[in-house]
Amino acid sequence: MGRKPVLKTDIFHVHTYRCGHAEAVPDEAYIQRAIELGATGIWFTDHAPFPCDLFRGRMMYADLPEYVATLTELKKRYERQIDVHIGLEIEYFPAFRTYYEELAANKSIEMLLLGQHMAEDSGGGYTFSWNEERLKKGEYIALGDAIVEGIKTGFFDAVAHPDRIFRRRKRWGSRMEAVAKDIIEAARQGGIPLEINISSMRHKYLFWHQFWELVPHKAEGIVGFDAHQVLELDAYRSIMME
Ligand SMILES: [Zn+2]
Ligand SMILES: [Zn+2]
Repeated sequence: MGRKPVLKTDIFHVHTYRCGHAEAVPDEAYIQRAIELGATGIWFTDHAPFPCDLFRGRMMYADLPEYVATLTELKKRYERQIDVHIGLEIEYFPAFRTYYEELAANKSIEMLLLGQHMAEDSGGGYTFSWNEERLKKGEYIALGDAIVEGIKTGFFDAVAHPDRIFRRRKRWGSRMEAVAKDIIEAARQGGIPLEINISSMRHKYLFWHQFWELVPHKAEGIVGFDAHQVLELDAYRSIMME
């Protein structure tokens, strides 16, 4: 898609109550706080549903039209104060190609943020059904491959927390470096930004400085809040001061 760029003065990557694990407040609460903080824009990227509600931790498929309609209404209502952007955070699963085509064709959806929390495996299953041992060894490889493949499809506008694929690792290693380089190179070729995720920084093993040291042009990255509650937007102040 590669449409509107995310400005440094925007608040990027905000969830809503629809995903089931975010604060139970109306979308407007985030918008009003973003205005108070002086942001130029706010990007909602709630967890996208899949047809038949195959996966947990996301809005229901039936709620997608309401999500888009509500935010479209708020976009108009607040257009003089802030740019409200409508996006979705979504994994890349090769089996759902036609679904991504549909989402990409929806003119109201401005951003598909590739957030690879799990991946299809070669046996036709998903990584979330792997055992601990297999996850520890190979989850980052499966997620990394899916991110690279996903970027190449051209459906996605940015990659959420790419370094979070290493969440089950305790120490940096050469295979991890190779996977990191593949992602960074794919993003460069695809011309899409990698997200430095503020929420990841608050948890052990989600944020890897070794990853970011491999990114040649850090300025091309975007900062994402991954906010699941209004209070998390307040990080905007310290980011703007840096
Ligand atoms: Zn979430
Ligand atoms: Zn997120």
